[in-house]
Amino acid sequence: MAGTDSGVVFDTLVVVGPGLIGSSVLRRAKEYGTLARRLVAVDNSAAVCARVMELGLADEATTDGVAAVAQADCVMLCVPVGAMGAVAAQLVPAMKPGAVLTDVGSTKVSVTEAIAPSLRADVPYVPAHPMAGTEFSGPDAGLVDLFENRWCLLTPLEATTPQALQQIRTLWTRCGARLREMSPAHHDRVCAIVSHLPHLLAFTICGTADDLAEETRSEVLDLAASGFRDFTRIAASDPVMWRDIFLANREALLEMLGRFMEDAQAMARAIRWGDAEYIVDKIERGREIRKSLIENRQA
Ligand code: NAP
Repeated sequence: MAGTDSGVVFDTLVVVGPGLIGSSVLRRAKEYGTLARRLVAVDNSAAVCARVMELGLADEATTDGVAAVAQADCVMLCVPVGAMGAVAAQLVPAMKPGAVLTDVGSTKVSVTEAIAPSLRADVPYVPAHPMAGTEFSGPDAGLVDLFENRWCLLTPLEATTPQALQQIRTLWTRCGARLREMSPAHHDRVCAIVSHLPHLLAFTICGTADDLAEETRSEVLDLAASGFRDFTRIAASDPVMWRDIFLANREALLEMLGRFMEDAQAMARAIRWGDAEYIVDKIERGREIRKSLIENRQA
């Protein structure tokens, strides 16, 4: 097994699902040469495999996941969260003892629960979530610096070995990410407010605009200003991925949505009654949050 302080983290890294996230990891690994000596991509689609090779993202790209993971020192699952359980059930039995299993799913309670029945005592599992993305998907969408200065949240389980955890820490640090560790449940609550609710609002506001009368709709498109434009960028995200995330993080997301609706009602009331102080206070809080994101290099 390769070391973690110098050289490569893993000898053979197998990325299952070379889409936006998976292909970004592969790009980073190829360009820097510090993640793994050998890179293998697994995808159900032969066309996606061919594209991965065309782009030069891996040493091998195959639809035969079972054969691929049998050679792996690390298997990284980069498929939609709703597919994680089935993919793990198919691939984990073929992994060699001591190889590390990890994933990049955007929800952690549902993914760790879905993978749990497939876990083996000799295959340490390190759940992870790199908090970086764009509205694009597929192997062409990846970026070598996608994870630069972004958070990667690790949610180790009781059975996660310290060595495997350290290897995945090193892998993400070498992708440029900053690390935090937390429980899967805490992760899901945090992500419900910072990521899932904003996407829900973006999809909803675009739907509301689209439901308006024909002449208004053309005006919305013609006159789209920065506020609406920013929402449309988020709303362009992949429907399968976001369907899975909403359903997988149902409870935390509904709780945050409930809190948001109460706050939105309070704002509506302030506007109705001309409570200028309340309105200014809320806007100032928003400005403060933006300022601290810029200071934290997360903007
Ligand atoms: P993506 O670009 O759509 O890539 C998904 C990959 O998974 C593709 O290679 C796809 O193969 C494969 N796949 C889809 N359904 C599958 C199934 N049922 N069985 C096996 N493979 C399947 O998506 P992504 O944005 O990289 O997201 C991948 C994971 O990263 C998700 O779990 C997501 O929650 C997480 N994540 C996403 C973001 C983000 O902002 N995008 C950020 C952090 C984490 P085909 O192309 O052949 O269908």
